Amino acid sequence: MQLKVVETPKDEAPRAVKPPVDPSTLSHRHLLEGDFWRRIPAYANVSEAEFLDHKWQMKQTITRVDKLLAALQGLVSPQFIVDAEEGFRHAPMAVRVSPYLLSLVDWTKPYEDPLRRQFIPLSSTRLPDHPQLRFDSLNEQGDAPVQGLTHRYPDKALFLALDTCPVYCRFCTRSYAVGPDTDQAELEKLSLKANAQRWEAIFTYVASRPELEDIVISGGDSYNLRADQIREIGHRLLDIPHVARMRFATKGPAVMPQKILTDDEWFKALVEVVHRGRSMAKDVVLHTHFNHPNEITGITKRAMDRLFGEGVTVRNQSVLQRGVNDQVETMTTLVKRLAHVNVQPYYVYVHDLVKGVEELRTTVDTAEYLEKSVRGTTAGFNTPTFVVDAPGGGGKRVVHSFEHYDRVTGISVYTAPSVKPGQFFLYFDPIHLLPEAGQMRWKDPAEHSKMVQEALDRAQARARR
Ligand SMILES: *Cc1c(COP(=O)(O)O)cnc(C)c1O
Ligand code: SF4
Repeated sequence: MQLKVVETPKDEAPRAVKPPVDPSTLSHRHLLEGDFWRRIPAYANVSEAEFLDHKWQMKQTITRVDKLLAALQGLVSPQFIVDAEEGFRHAPMAVRVSPYLLSLVDWTKPYEDPLRRQFIPLSSTRLPDHPQLRFDSLNEQGDAPVQGLTHRYPDKALFLALDTCPVYCRFCTRSYAVGPDTDQAELEKLSLKANAQRWEAIFTYVASRPELEDIVISGGDSYNLRADQIREIGHRLLDIPHVARMRFATKGPAVMPQKILTDDEWFKALVEVVHRGRSMAKDVVLHTHFNHPNEITGITKRAMDRLFGEGVTVRNQSVLQRGVNDQVETMTTLVKRLAHVNVQPYYVYVHDLVKGVEELRTTVDTAEYLEKSVRGTTAGFNTPTFVVDAPGGGGKRVVHSFEHYDRVTGISVYTAPSVKPGQFFLYFDPIHLLPEAGQMRWKDPAEHSKMVQEALDRAQARARR
């Protein structure tokens, strides 16, 4: 049989089955380039070489509210400055903002800007905390056999190596430990210093538990570990025969990609551990934390390319935040832009119940809608799983997998059969986003335990099925 070859006429694209795409749908590939930092008066004369130097970024990082507000003089209205000053007074997290991060905020729209919202609190947008909020809502301390090691899941553990970060995020789940004390912390923060002696107890515990295969090294933030500390932790864990996988967690690439490009000592230490792991058939990767497409620039791409070139796998965990990344278009662009810089979108977390940031939380319903919308836009392996980290220590549960969800009271109930069998875990949507009927019930404290009991009863009925 002869095959008939149909040739495409020269200079003509094959017939399309789809209409031409709107170029705006490719915006994830357009990364910010140029000397954007010069828009900030304080950095108007900073050269590219200086701005790319991580030492300059660290030295210029702002850690005092008055200094931050001084840097904003002339960029924003006096009213905004007062609002932020007041906002910091009530905030449980300290301030820490790199020049890079400060330069990425659109200061002509400081109230709406998605990066500003994550790091600079305002008094005018403050909402009361949810009445069901608890300190250390994930119960990480309750699941810690040694201080700074949470062993919740059967085969993996979370190693809190230190309690500092290159940035302080308002929404931090670990505000119970991370960062310096602030006026607002009701309890003194738990101290988890980078301390070889404390780590020794952790290595001993991990070595004594043959079921532990996977260690998350977090904190705080691996960016703030020195090169010799990266090596110490990396090699000590690799030397434990049953440890097969490790992840260094860091927000660094989102707030100071310069370090990957110019801190050769740190970069080499990380790559050394990754390569030694590979030679032992053990997987060592980097987990990072981008929340908005504006956090990914041409500088980020160069930094991620350097890691990719050394074969370092990078995955991303985002936190879903209202006004930051709760729109379908923003989340889709974030996911595609992460893939564009070879970072695999791994999780999107529903915002934990954290003090002082109620306006940043959103509903499980919104998370479900976003998940539905994002899935299908790109490769499945670049599609993040949307999870609720179940308050009380149930661990991460897929957002759709609740046993029961009442959109009026905003209570969702999850189970975790392989983590804490027989228990129920409740998440609470922010009250101000509930329908009127739900808001009314939460106004009456006598209703609180009734609503919780109702939700548990319904979940129980379903879980037995
Ligand atoms: C998130 C987490 C892990 C890692 O979980 P993965 O789903 O594998 O990413 C391990 N331990 C604790 C306590 C955690 O919170
Ligand atoms: S970088 Fe991570 S650990 Fe540090 S403050 Fe932000 S969310 Fe918390």
